[in-house]
Amino acid sequence: MDLQNIGKQSGLRFKILLAGEDGVGKTSLILRFTHNIFDITAKTKTIEGDYITTNLNLFGAPVRLDIQDLKEESWSEAMSYFVKDNDGILLVFDTNSAKPVKTYLDTWLKSIRDINAEIPIVVLGNKSDLPVKANIKKISQYISSSGLHFIQTSAKTSENVSYAFKLLVSEIVKSKAAQKKRTETRRTDGLDVIFNRYKL
Ligand code: GDP
Ligand code: MG
Repeated sequence: MDLQNIGKQSGLRFKILLAGEDGVGKTSLILRFTHNIFDITAKTKTIEGDYITTNLNLFGAPVRLDIQDLKEESWSEAMSYFVKDNDGILLVFDTNSAKPVKTYLDTWLKSIRDINAEIPIVVLGNKSDLPVKANIKKISQYISSSGLHFIQTSAKTSENVSYAFKLLVSEIVKSKAAQKKRTETRRTDGLDVIFNRYKL
């Protein structure tokens, strides 16, 4: 069976969430990834609150991705629900902002980890097309010391946008493979075939 068919039959489907304060570019990253558009007025045309569905190829296998976008105020109301209900998180900050990034990341990571210690997270420094005010070298070291990946993205120019989503999906697959090893139970869905094929 080829991988395209495995993906179709497996119905691989993950739910992810974009986290981070208002204005960092979450809605813009989703619109760039799913519709390849960048709209400077995106903030007013937000898709917040709902899932937006798209498909991507992972190792040649189609994966359905349900992406959730939120308003900042929704976080405080239902953080626990959102973190539990998703398979992975893209945590976004704005590299053009002069706000202290370490404090920002610590706060977000702690709130997420308190709810789910293992949910895969990829950190995005968005707006790389604008002058970078954040100390990228220090931030990047700090993020890798927390065991996470860090990517600089631009929803405006598209830089690294698909890569960021795909990296998160592959982190989700890896994490599910690790869970599978721990539980030692045999899966009957398509993930099993992908794990075996790629020796995950
Ligand atoms: P959200 O509140 O996190 O969803 O942020 P939005 O997607 O609404 O973006 C906030 C503002 O930043 C909007 O004016 C966007 O056009 C702008 N923006 C988002 N991403 C980028 C980017 O990569 N580069 C630049 N220059 N502006 C961006
Ligand atoms: Mg938004």
